[in-house]
Amino acid sequence: MRPTLRSRAELVNLIHRRTHALGGPGLLALALGAVVLSVGVADAAARAGSSAPAAPLLQITAAPQQGAAQPPHTAEEPTWDGVDLDGDGAPDFANPTGRAPRGHDAFGDGYFHASRDGGTRPHEGVDYDSRAGQTVSAPISGFVSKIGYAYPGDPRFKYVEIDNPALHIEARVFYVDPVVEVGNSVALGTPIGTAHSLQARYGGITDHIHLELAESGRKIDAQTVILARREDATMMAGMN
Ligand SMILES: [Zn+2]
Repeated sequence: MRPTLRSRAELVNLIHRRTHALGGPGLLALALGAVVLSVGVADAAARAGSSAPAAPLLQITAAPQQGAAQPPHTAEEPTWDGVDLDGDGAPDFANPTGRAPRGHDAFGDGYFHASRDGGTRPHEGVDYDSRAGQTVSAPISGFVSKIGYAYPGDPRFKYVEIDNPALHIEARVFYVDPVVEVGNSVALGTPIGTAHSLQARYGGITDHIHLELAESGRKIDAQTVILARREDATMMAGMN
């Protein structure tokens, strides 16, 4: 009995991670239906919070699993890996929005050192696509050292500055409505606020979070420490 229970737990865990990555509780319910099918244990459905009996789940999951269960956007949405700067085996950086760096739009590009103000200055950060109101996560761990304004005289657009003295890294995360205060400690990837729409200031721009990272006071390219990865579910251990 023990090996069966263990493998069921592993399946539930694996599929939970996978469906979480693919997006949404609806998929989770479907996938857990597959668990019921594969190990023949009805209480997995109850564990998933589903009130549906096992039989309808069986019918649903009798459909092909490969491809059909995946929303169309997932093929383009990578997983984001933070570099382990201090060699402790854990990542030290995280993507603040979980989305790709901003591409080209009428206002410019989102990459580090892209042209700004007609070429008179370089872009000092990396812009990550956002949806207004979405959760913005701490790109580094540390403590909140400042909450400031992106533009003098305009209180709508704030940034959160996080300092990590142990790593000698400082992060500034712009266009955030903060849920943290100066002095708070923040863990990597935990919420620091919500994304503020830029449309009122730059109509038509791709909404984004502007992330500046500095190592020992020198600006670095966030895309060198937050890396895109496209993998199958077996490589997603550690996601939550
Ligand atoms: Zn920017």
